[in-house]
Amino acid sequence: MTHELHDSFDRMHLWHPYTSTHDPLPTYKADRCEGAEIILSDGTRLIDGMSSWWCVIHGYNHPVLNEAMKAQIDKMSHLMFGGLTHEPAIELGKLLLSILPPSMEHIFYADSGSVATEVAMKMAVQAFDDPRKTNFATIRRGYHGDTWNAMSVCDPVTGMHGAFGPALPIRFFAPEPECGFDHKWNPEDFKPMERMIEENASSLAAVILEPVVQGAGGMRFYNPQYLCELRECCDRNNVLLIFDEIATGFGRTGKLFAWEHAGVEPDIMLIGKALTGGYMTFSAVIASRKVADMVSASSSGVMMHGPTFMGNPLACAVALASTRLLLDSPWKKRISEIESIMNEELSPASSWNSVKETRVLGGIGVVEMKEDVDLGEFQKHCVAEGVWIRPFGKNAYIMPPYLAVSDEQVRILCRKLLSILERMYGR
Ligand SMILES: *Cc1c(COP(=O)(O)O)cnc(C)c1O
Repeated sequence: MTHELHDSFDRMHLWHPYTSTHDPLPTYKADRCEGAEIILSDGTRLIDGMSSWWCVIHGYNHPVLNEAMKAQIDKMSHLMFGGLTHEPAIELGKLLLSILPPSMEHIFYADSGSVATEVAMKMAVQAFDDPRKTNFATIRRGYHGDTWNAMSVCDPVTGMHGAFGPALPIRFFAPEPECGFDHKWNPEDFKPMERMIEENASSLAAVILEPVVQGAGGMRFYNPQYLCELRECCDRNNVLLIFDEIATGFGRTGKLFAWEHAGVEPDIMLIGKALTGGYMTFSAVIASRKVADMVSASSSGVMMHGPTFMGNPLACAVALASTRLLLDSPWKKRISEIESIMNEELSPASSWNSVKETRVLGGIGVVEMKEDVDLGEFQKHCVAEGVWIRPFGKNAYIMPPYLAVSDEQVRILCRKLLSILERMYGR
Protein backbone atom coordinates (compact mmCIF):
# COMPACT_ATOMS: atom_id res chain seq x y z
CA MET A 1 0.00 0.00 0.00
CA THR A 2 1.30 3.40 -0.92
CA HIS A 3 1.08 6.41 1.33
CA GLU A 4 1.91 9.01 -1.28
CA LEU A 5 -0.38 12.01 -1.01
CA HIS A 6 -0.63 12.32 -4.81
CA ASP A 7 -1.04 8.93 -6.44
CA SER A 8 0.55 8.54 -9.88
CA PHE A 9 -1.95 5.92 -11.10
CA ASP A 10 -4.76 8.27 -10.14
CA ARG A 11 -3.10 11.12 -11.99
CA MET A 12 -2.49 9.03 -15.12
CA HIS A 13 -5.74 7.07 -15.34
CA LEU A 14 -8.60 8.38 -13.22
CA TRP A 15 -10.85 11.13 -14.39
CA HIS A 16 -11.97 13.48 -11.61
CA PRO A 17 -14.95 15.86 -11.87
CA TYR A 18 -14.52 18.50 -14.57
CA THR A 19 -10.81 17.84 -15.18
CA SER A 20 -8.51 17.42 -18.12
CA THR A 21 -6.26 14.39 -18.51
CA HIS A 22 -3.51 16.85 -19.51
CA ASP A 23 -1.84 18.13 -16.38
CA PRO A 24 -4.85 17.79 -14.03
CA LEU A 25 -4.88 19.68 -10.74
CA PRO A 26 -3.46 17.59 -7.89
CA THR A 27 -5.80 15.29 -5.98
CA TYR A 28 -5.13 14.53 -2.32
CA LYS A 29 -5.38 10.94 -1.20
CA ALA A 30 -7.67 10.36 1.77
CA ASP A 31 -7.32 7.36 4.01
CA ARG A 32 -10.42 7.63 6.17
CA CYS A 33 -12.83 10.14 7.67
CA GLU A 34 -14.22 10.68 11.13
CA GLY A 35 -16.93 13.09 12.22
CA ALA A 36 -16.12 16.40 10.54
CA GLU A 37 -12.56 15.42 9.62
CA ILE A 38 -10.92 13.98 6.53
CA ILE A 39 -7.67 12.13 7.26
CA LEU A 40 -5.18 12.07 4.39
CA SER A 41 -2.83 9.17 3.72
CA ASP A 42 0.10 11.04 5.30
CA GLY A 43 -1.93 11.56 8.48
CA THR A 44 -2.89 15.20 7.80
CA ARG A 45 -6.30 15.98 9.29
CA LEU A 46 -8.58 18.39 7.43
CA ILE A 47 -11.72 19.95 8.87
CA ASP A 48 -14.39 19.37 6.24
CA GLY A 49 -16.10 22.54 5.03
CA MET A 50 -17.92 20.91 2.11
CA SER A 51 -19.90 17.97 3.54
CA SER A 52 -18.64 16.14 0.42
CA TRP A 53 -20.69 18.34 -1.89
CA TRP A 54 -23.35 19.11 0.71
CA CYS A 55 -24.58 15.65 1.58
CA VAL A 56 -22.67 14.41 4.65
CA ILE A 57 -24.81 16.22 7.23
CA HIS A 58 -24.11 13.89 10.18
CA GLY A 59 -20.38 13.70 9.52
CA TYR A 60 -18.38 10.68 8.39
CA ASN A 61 -18.25 7.21 9.81
CA HIS A 62 -21.35 7.71 11.94
CA PRO A 63 -22.00 4.66 14.15
CA VAL A 64 -25.79 4.75 13.66
CA LEU A 65 -25.58 4.97 9.87
CA ASN A 66 -22.80 2.37 9.71
CA GLU A 67 -24.99 0.04 11.74
CA ALA A 68 -28.07 0.64 9.56
CA MET A 69 -26.12 -0.34 6.46
CA LYS A 70 -24.50 -3.37 8.03
CA ALA A 71 -27.84 -4.66 9.28
CA GLN A 72 -29.41 -4.22 5.83
CA ILE A 73 -26.46 -5.92 4.07
CA ASP A 74 -27.11 -9.04 6.12
CA LYS A 75 -30.69 -9.16 4.76
CA MET A 76 -30.33 -7.97 1.15
CA SER A 77 -28.22 -5.28 -0.44
CA HIS A 78 -30.27 -5.08 -3.58
CA LEU A 79 -33.53 -6.35 -4.91
CA MET A 80 -35.33 -5.41 -8.10
CA PHE A 81 -38.24 -3.04 -7.46
CA GLY A 82 -40.27 -4.40 -10.36
CA GLY A 83 -42.94 -6.60 -8.80
CA LEU A 84 -41.23 -6.66 -5.38
CA THR A 85 -41.12 -4.30 -2.45
CA HIS A 86 -39.51 -4.16 0.99
CA GLU A 87 -39.65 -2.65 4.45
CA PRO A 88 -36.90 -0.01 4.02
CA ALA A 89 -38.65 1.46 0.94
CA ILE A 90 -42.02 1.51 2.70
CA GLU A 91 -40.79 2.92 6.00
CA LEU A 92 -38.71 5.57 4.24
CA GLY A 93 -41.71 6.54 2.12
CA LYS A 94 -43.91 6.96 5.20
CA LEU A 95 -41.31 9.10 6.92
CA LEU A 96 -40.71 11.28 3.85
CA LEU A 97 -44.41 11.94 3.30
CA SER A 98 -44.68 13.07 6.93
CA ILE A 99 -42.05 15.79 6.41
CA LEU A 100 -42.62 16.86 2.79
CA PRO A 101 -45.24 19.38 1.62
CA PRO A 102 -48.69 17.95 2.46
CA SER A 103 -49.78 17.71 -1.19
CA MET A 104 -46.88 15.40 -2.07
CA GLU A 105 -48.24 11.86 -2.26
CA HIS A 106 -46.43 9.68 -4.81
CA ILE A 107 -42.75 8.82 -4.50
CA PHE A 108 -40.44 7.70 -7.30
CA TYR A 109 -37.07 6.51 -5.96
CA ALA A 110 -34.19 7.24 -8.34
CA ASP A 111 -30.43 6.79 -8.41
CA SER A 112 -28.96 10.28 -8.23
CA GLY A 113 -29.90 13.93 -8.31
CA SER A 114 -29.44 14.24 -12.05
CA VAL A 115 -31.60 11.21 -12.68
CA ALA A 116 -34.27 12.68 -10.41
CA THR A 117 -34.27 15.79 -12.61
CA GLU A 118 -34.67 13.63 -15.72
CA VAL A 119 -37.53 11.69 -14.12
CA ALA A 120 -39.31 14.88 -13.01
CA MET A 121 -39.05 16.37 -16.50
CA LYS A 122 -40.33 13.16 -18.09
CA MET A 123 -43.16 13.12 -15.54
CA ALA A 124 -44.21 16.66 -16.46
CA VAL A 125 -44.18 15.86 -20.19
CA GLN A 126 -46.14 12.66 -19.65
CA ALA A 127 -48.62 14.47 -17.39
CA PHE A 128 -49.75 16.79 -20.21
CA ASP A 129 -49.55 14.06 -22.84
CA ASP A 130 -49.61 16.81 -25.47
CA PRO A 131 -46.85 17.06 -28.11
CA ARG A 132 -47.06 20.85 -27.93
CA LYS A 133 -46.60 21.07 -24.14
CA THR A 134 -43.13 19.59 -23.77
CA ASN A 135 -40.78 22.44 -22.98
CA PHE A 136 -39.42 23.90 -19.73
CA ALA A 137 -38.73 27.29 -18.22
CA THR A 138 -36.28 28.13 -15.46
CA ILE A 139 -34.20 30.96 -14.05
CA ARG A 140 -30.58 31.72 -14.84
CA ARG A 141 -27.84 30.69 -12.40
CA GLY A 142 -29.58 27.40 -11.60
CA TYR A 143 -28.09 23.93 -11.36
CA HIS A 144 -30.01 20.68 -11.82
CA GLY A 145 -27.37 18.07 -12.63
CA ASP A 146 -25.09 16.85 -15.39
CA THR A 147 -27.23 14.50 -17.50
CA TRP A 148 -28.63 15.69 -20.82
CA ASN A 149 -31.95 17.26 -19.90
CA ALA A 150 -30.69 18.37 -16.50
CA MET A 151 -27.88 20.25 -18.28
CA SER A 152 -30.40 21.93 -20.56
CA VAL A 153 -32.01 23.72 -17.58
CA CYS A 154 -28.70 24.63 -15.86
CA ASP A 155 -27.45 28.18 -16.21
CA PRO A 156 -26.46 28.67 -19.85
CA VAL A 157 -23.26 30.51 -18.85
CA THR A 158 -21.95 28.77 -15.70
CA GLY A 159 -23.45 25.47 -16.92
CA MET A 160 -22.23 23.38 -19.82
CA HIS A 161 -24.21 24.84 -22.73
CA GLY A 162 -20.99 26.20 -24.25
CA ALA A 163 -19.54 22.70 -24.62
CA PHE A 164 -22.69 21.04 -25.96
CA GLY A 165 -24.35 23.84 -27.90
CA PRO A 166 -26.90 22.58 -30.42
CA ALA A 167 -26.93 19.11 -28.85
CA LEU A 168 -28.99 20.53 -25.96
CA PRO A 169 -32.73 21.18 -26.18
CA ILE A 170 -33.48 24.90 -26.04
CA ARG A 171 -35.24 26.02 -22.85
CA PHE A 172 -36.76 29.30 -21.69
CA PHE A 173 -34.59 31.27 -19.26
CA ALA A 174 -35.75 34.18 -17.11
CA PRO A 175 -33.14 36.35 -15.37
CA GLU A 176 -32.19 35.12 -11.92
CA PRO A 177 -34.17 36.87 -9.14
CA GLU A 178 -32.32 39.99 -7.99
CA CYS A 179 -34.24 40.55 -4.78
CA GLY A 180 -32.19 39.07 -1.92
CA PHE A 181 -33.51 36.67 0.70
CA ASP A 182 -34.24 39.27 3.38
CA HIS A 183 -34.62 42.33 1.15
CA LYS A 184 -37.92 44.11 0.65
CA TRP A 185 -39.82 42.37 -2.15
CA ASN A 186 -39.80 44.17 -5.46
CA PRO A 187 -42.65 42.98 -7.73
CA GLU A 188 -40.58 43.94 -10.81
CA ASP A 189 -38.34 40.99 -9.99
CA PHE A 190 -40.96 38.52 -11.14
CA LYS A 191 -42.14 40.36 -14.27
CA PRO A 192 -39.75 38.73 -16.81
CA MET A 193 -40.72 35.23 -15.66
CA GLU A 194 -44.39 36.14 -15.70
CA ARG A 195 -44.17 37.43 -19.27
CA MET A 196 -42.21 34.37 -20.35
CA ILE A 197 -44.76 31.96 -18.88
CA GLU A 198 -47.73 33.87 -20.29
CA GLU A 199 -46.25 34.05 -23.78
CA ASN A 200 -45.18 30.40 -23.89
CA ALA A 201 -47.74 28.59 -21.76
CA SER A 202 -48.94 26.53 -24.72
CA SER A 203 -45.48 24.96 -25.09
CA LEU A 204 -44.50 24.73 -21.41
CA ALA A 205 -44.90 21.54 -19.37
CA ALA A 206 -43.23 22.94 -16.27
CA VAL A 207 -41.06 25.52 -14.60
CA ILE A 208 -38.14 23.96 -12.72
CA LEU A 209 -35.99 25.80 -10.19
CA GLU A 210 -34.21 25.54 -6.87
CA PRO A 211 -36.36 27.22 -4.19
CA VAL A 212 -34.69 30.16 -2.36
CA VAL A 213 -31.08 28.93 -2.63
CA GLN A 214 -29.38 28.49 -6.00
CA GLY A 215 -26.45 26.17 -5.35
CA ALA A 216 -23.84 25.06 -7.85
CA GLY A 217 -24.97 27.62 -10.45
CA GLY A 218 -24.09 30.61 -8.31
CA MET A 219 -24.56 30.21 -4.53
CA ARG A 220 -27.33 32.82 -4.50
CA PHE A 221 -30.17 33.36 -2.01
CA TYR A 222 -33.35 34.99 -3.35
CA ASN A 223 -36.61 36.31 -1.97
CA PRO A 224 -39.18 33.61 -1.12
CA GLN A 225 -41.96 35.89 -2.43
CA TYR A 226 -40.68 35.00 -5.92
CA LEU A 227 -41.97 31.47 -5.34
CA CYS A 228 -45.40 32.71 -4.23
CA GLU A 229 -45.74 34.73 -7.44
CA LEU A 230 -44.46 31.81 -9.49
CA ARG A 231 -46.95 29.38 -7.95
CA GLU A 232 -49.90 31.63 -8.85
CA CYS A 233 -48.57 32.30 -12.31
CA CYS A 234 -48.07 28.58 -13.05
CA ASP A 235 -51.61 27.85 -11.85
CA ARG A 236 -53.11 30.63 -13.98
CA ASN A 237 -51.29 29.30 -17.05
CA ASN A 238 -51.67 25.55 -16.56
CA VAL A 239 -47.93 24.95 -16.15
CA LEU A 240 -46.53 22.55 -13.54
CA LEU A 241 -44.02 23.70 -10.93
CA ILE A 242 -40.98 21.60 -9.99
CA PHE A 243 -38.89 22.42 -6.92
CA ASP A 244 -35.39 20.96 -7.00
CA GLU A 245 -34.55 20.57 -3.29
CA ILE A 246 -31.61 18.25 -3.90
CA ALA A 247 -29.21 20.77 -2.35
CA THR A 248 -31.59 22.62 -0.02
CA GLY A 249 -33.30 19.64 1.62
CA PHE A 250 -32.81 18.20 5.09
CA GLY A 251 -32.14 21.43 6.97
CA ARG A 252 -29.36 23.12 5.00
CA THR A 253 -31.16 26.48 4.67
CA GLY A 254 -32.40 26.52 8.27
CA LYS A 255 -35.81 25.01 7.38
CA LEU A 256 -36.21 21.27 6.87
CA PHE A 257 -36.99 22.04 3.19
CA ALA A 258 -36.63 25.38 1.46
CA TRP A 259 -40.26 25.58 0.21
CA GLU A 260 -41.16 26.31 3.84
CA HIS A 261 -39.58 29.78 3.54
CA ALA A 262 -42.34 30.65 1.06
CA GLY A 263 -45.09 28.29 2.18
CA VAL A 264 -46.06 27.37 -1.36
CA GLU A 265 -46.04 23.80 -2.56
CA PRO A 266 -44.72 22.51 -5.88
CA ASP A 267 -46.41 19.90 -8.08
CA ILE A 268 -43.22 17.83 -8.18
CA MET A 269 -40.31 17.94 -5.76
CA LEU A 270 -36.81 16.49 -5.98
CA ILE A 271 -34.65 15.39 -3.09
CA GLY A 272 -31.23 13.76 -3.03
CA LYS A 273 -27.76 14.56 -1.67
CA ALA A 274 -28.32 14.61 2.15
CA LEU A 275 -31.16 12.07 1.80
CA THR A 276 -28.76 9.24 2.73
CA GLY A 277 -26.62 11.41 5.00
CA GLY A 278 -24.09 11.24 2.17
CA TYR A 279 -23.61 7.48 2.50
CA MET A 280 -24.86 6.47 -0.94
CA THR A 281 -26.14 7.91 -4.15
CA PHE A 282 -29.93 8.08 -4.00
CA SER A 283 -32.74 10.48 -4.79
CA ALA A 284 -36.49 10.72 -4.95
CA VAL A 285 -39.03 12.49 -7.13
CA ILE A 286 -42.24 13.18 -5.25
CA ALA A 287 -45.44 14.17 -7.04
CA SER A 288 -48.82 15.49 -6.01
CA ARG A 289 -51.89 13.33 -6.53
CA LYS A 290 -52.87 15.66 -9.37
CA VAL A 291 -49.65 14.97 -11.29
CA ALA A 292 -49.76 11.23 -10.61
CA ASP A 293 -53.37 11.17 -11.86
CA MET A 294 -52.42 13.07 -15.00
CA VAL A 295 -49.59 10.63 -15.76
CA SER A 296 -51.76 7.63 -15.06
CA ALA A 297 -54.54 8.98 -17.28
CA SER A 298 -52.13 9.70 -20.15
CA SER A 299 -52.08 7.60 -23.33
CA SER A 300 -49.15 5.50 -22.06
CA GLY A 301 -50.90 5.15 -18.70
CA VAL A 302 -47.72 4.52 -16.73
CA MET A 303 -44.69 6.48 -15.57
CA MET A 304 -42.06 5.59 -18.20
CA HIS A 305 -38.99 5.09 -16.07
CA GLY A 306 -37.57 2.19 -14.05
CA PRO A 307 -33.86 2.12 -13.26
CA THR A 308 -32.09 -1.12 -12.29
CA PHE A 309 -31.28 0.15 -8.82
CA MET A 310 -34.65 1.78 -8.19
CA GLY A 311 -35.59 1.65 -4.50
CA ASN A 312 -32.27 0.00 -3.60
CA PRO A 313 -32.78 -1.45 -0.09
CA LEU A 314 -29.34 -0.41 1.17
CA ALA A 315 -29.92 3.18 0.07
CA CYS A 316 -33.45 3.18 1.54
CA ALA A 317 -32.21 1.76 4.85
CA VAL A 318 -29.49 4.34 5.28
CA ALA A 319 -31.80 7.16 4.13
CA LEU A 320 -34.33 6.07 6.73
CA ALA A 321 -31.69 5.97 9.48
CA SER A 322 -30.23 9.32 8.42
CA THR A 323 -33.60 11.08 8.29
CA ARG A 324 -34.61 9.68 11.68
CA LEU A 325 -31.29 10.77 13.13
CA LEU A 326 -31.80 14.27 11.73
CA LEU A 327 -35.36 14.57 13.06
CA ASP A 328 -34.27 13.33 16.50
CA SER A 329 -31.46 15.88 16.64
CA PRO A 330 -31.70 19.56 17.61
CA TRP A 331 -30.90 20.39 13.95
CA LYS A 332 -32.76 23.67 13.86
CA LYS A 333 -30.99 25.11 16.87
CA ARG A 334 -27.64 23.78 15.71
CA ILE A 335 -27.96 25.24 12.20
CA SER A 336 -28.96 28.60 13.61
CA GLU A 337 -25.91 28.58 15.91
CA ILE A 338 -23.66 27.77 12.95
CA GLU A 339 -25.38 30.51 10.94
CA SER A 340 -24.58 33.07 13.68
CA ILE A 341 -20.94 32.00 13.89
CA MET A 342 -20.51 32.19 10.11
CA ASN A 343 -22.20 35.61 10.03
CA GLU A 344 -19.92 36.92 12.74
CA GLU A 345 -16.75 35.45 11.21
CA LEU A 346 -17.35 36.08 7.50
CA SER A 347 -19.10 39.48 7.44
CA PRO A 348 -15.95 41.55 8.15
CA ALA A 349 -14.70 40.52 4.69
CA SER A 350 -17.66 42.25 3.02
CA SER A 351 -15.72 45.53 3.16
CA TRP A 352 -12.61 44.14 1.45
CA ASN A 353 -11.76 45.46 -2.01
CA SER A 354 -11.29 41.93 -3.32
CA VAL A 355 -14.71 40.80 -2.09
CA LYS A 356 -18.03 41.49 -3.83
CA GLU A 357 -20.28 40.24 -1.02
CA THR A 358 -20.50 37.85 1.90
CA ARG A 359 -23.77 36.09 2.66
CA VAL A 360 -24.93 33.44 5.08
CA LEU A 361 -28.14 31.42 5.23
CA GLY A 362 -28.59 28.43 7.51
CA GLY A 363 -25.60 26.13 7.10
CA ILE A 364 -24.29 27.97 4.01
CA GLY A 365 -21.61 30.68 4.21
CA VAL A 366 -20.45 32.34 0.99
CA VAL A 367 -17.68 34.81 0.19
CA GLU A 368 -18.21 36.02 -3.37
CA MET A 369 -14.97 37.43 -4.76
CA LYS A 370 -14.63 39.98 -7.56
CA GLU A 371 -12.49 37.58 -9.60
CA ASP A 372 -12.38 33.81 -10.09
CA VAL A 373 -10.57 31.96 -7.32
CA ASP A 374 -7.51 29.96 -8.45
CA LEU A 375 -8.62 26.52 -7.34
CA GLY A 376 -5.27 24.73 -7.46
CA GLU A 377 -3.51 27.36 -5.40
CA PHE A 378 -6.42 27.74 -3.00
CA GLN A 379 -6.56 24.02 -2.26
CA LYS A 380 -2.81 23.83 -1.68
CA HIS A 381 -3.17 26.49 1.02
CA CYS A 382 -6.24 24.71 2.45
CA VAL A 383 -4.44 21.42 2.91
CA ALA A 384 -1.44 23.18 4.46
CA GLU A 385 -3.83 24.94 6.88
CA GLY A 386 -5.82 21.80 7.79
CA VAL A 387 -9.18 22.61 6.18
CA TRP A 388 -11.08 21.30 3.14
CA ILE A 389 -12.85 23.99 1.11
CA ARG A 390 -13.39 23.87 -2.66
CA PRO A 391 -14.43 27.14 -4.32
CA PHE A 392 -15.97 27.36 -7.78
CA GLY A 393 -15.74 30.42 -10.00
CA LYS A 394 -15.89 33.55 -7.84
CA ASN A 395 -17.53 31.78 -4.89
CA ALA A 396 -15.58 30.48 -1.93
CA TYR A 397 -18.08 28.90 0.42
CA ILE A 398 -18.44 26.74 3.50
CA MET A 399 -21.15 24.10 3.96
CA PRO A 400 -19.98 22.15 7.00
CA PRO A 401 -21.50 18.86 8.13
CA TYR A 402 -23.81 20.68 10.55
CA LEU A 403 -24.54 17.82 12.89
CA ALA A 404 -20.86 16.92 13.29
CA VAL A 405 -18.86 20.17 13.46
CA SER A 406 -18.05 21.95 16.71
CA ASP A 407 -18.34 25.73 17.08
CA GLU A 408 -14.56 25.85 17.15
CA GLN A 409 -14.31 23.95 13.87
CA VAL A 410 -16.77 26.34 12.20
CA ARG A 411 -14.68 29.30 13.39
CA ILE A 412 -11.48 27.70 12.11
CA LEU A 413 -13.09 27.04 8.72
CA CYS A 414 -14.22 30.68 8.42
CA ARG A 415 -10.91 32.13 9.60
CA LYS A 416 -8.81 29.93 7.33
CA LEU A 417 -11.10 30.69 4.40
CA LEU A 418 -10.61 34.44 4.91
CA SER A 419 -6.88 34.23 5.62
CA ILE A 420 -6.27 32.19 2.46
CA LEU A 421 -8.35 34.60 0.35
CA GLU A 422 -6.50 37.53 1.89
CA ARG A 423 -3.13 35.96 1.13
CA MET A 424 -4.15 35.30 -2.49
CA TYR A 425 -6.15 38.43 -3.34
CA GLY A 426 -5.52 40.99 -0.57
CA ARG A 427 -8.16 42.84 1.37
C1 LIG B 1 -26.18 18.20 -6.92
C2 LIG B 1 -27.45 18.66 -7.51
C3 LIG B 1 -28.11 17.94 -8.53
C4 LIG B 1 -27.50 16.71 -9.16
O1 LIG B 1 -27.32 15.68 -8.27
P1 LIG B 1 -26.29 14.48 -8.61
O2 LIG B 1 -26.52 13.50 -7.51
O3 LIG B 1 -24.92 15.09 -8.59
O4 LIG B 1 -26.64 13.96 -9.95
C5 LIG B 1 -29.32 18.41 -8.99
N1 LIG B 1 -29.87 19.52 -8.47
C6 LIG B 1 -29.28 20.24 -7.50
C7 LIG B 1 -29.97 21.44 -6.95
C8 LIG B 1 -28.05 19.84 -6.99
O5 LIG B 1 -27.46 20.57 -6.05
